[in-house]
Amino acid sequence: MKIVMLGAPGAGKGTQAKMIAAKYGIPHISTGDIFRANIKNGTELGEKAKQYMDQGLLVPDELTLALIMDRFAKDDCANGYVLDGFPRTIAQAEALTESLKAQNDALDMAIDVDVPDEDIIERMGGRRACVACGGTFHVLFNPPRVSGKCDLCGGELSIRKDDLPETVKKRLMVYHEQTQPLIDYYKAEGILRTVDGTKDVNEVFAEITALFE
Ligand code: ADP
Ligand code: ADP
Ligand code: ZN
Repeated sequence: MKIVMLGAPGAGKGTQAKMIAAKYGIPHISTGDIFRANIKNGTELGEKAKQYMDQGLLVPDELTLALIMDRFAKDDCANGYVLDGFPRTIAQAEALTESLKAQNDALDMAIDVDVPDEDIIERMGGRRACVACGGTFHVLFNPPRVSGKCDLCGGELSIRKDDLPETVKKRLMVYHEQTQPLIDYYKAEGILRTVDGTKDVNEVFAEITALFE
């Protein structure tokens, strides 16, 4: 099963992708998480990516593609994956289609988690992310069991630097310009499905699992 999650920053892609990964036993691959892990470990890639991420801009395609192709080569991808935050540009989507085609393979589904911009601003303000495992919570909508601690691994929760209101606005602009066109791209490929991302976390997940039945 090869799935792509689409949606604005903060739509709930990561939250749903983690649930899909757990239920279907496939890896959750988040390019944002991989970039943040590289930043935390002080790698050269992390240093390059940080310059763009802190401004709310996309990391260049070349860098992102090298990273993801490397990730696909790992054994755990043999039975598929759920991609969260990749592809984010038409060029990335085309590169993915081509690399799969070269192996006589293709994506099964692209799931658009649809949430209007107004809700996004509110969600981002309350997002808390685990520094250790990338788990995300929300102070109101999805609070951790222990305040400030990750339910999944016990790690410290913090506010992402790029979740500050000005950067969120910039990221939304970038989304509409560069990522939203992927909705039409996957519609044309015949694999687009849309779910209402304004519902609560479990209701959205129920809509998603219904797509697989
Ligand atoms: P969110 O899910 O809230 O949009 P992500 O963790 O997916 O955040 O991404 C955070 C940042 O990492 C993005 O704003 C961008 O700078 C960078 N990034 C992540 N994935 C990609 C990608 N596929 N292409 C380019 N930049 C990316
Ligand atoms: P994305 O990966 O698309 O950027 P996240 O999964 O990190 O989005 O979710 C963004 C924020 O919104 C987090 O704080 C998360 O806990 C919260 N959230 C996720 N899904 C929902 C939902 N259905 N309703 C309300 N809040 C949600
Ligand atoms: Zn954690």
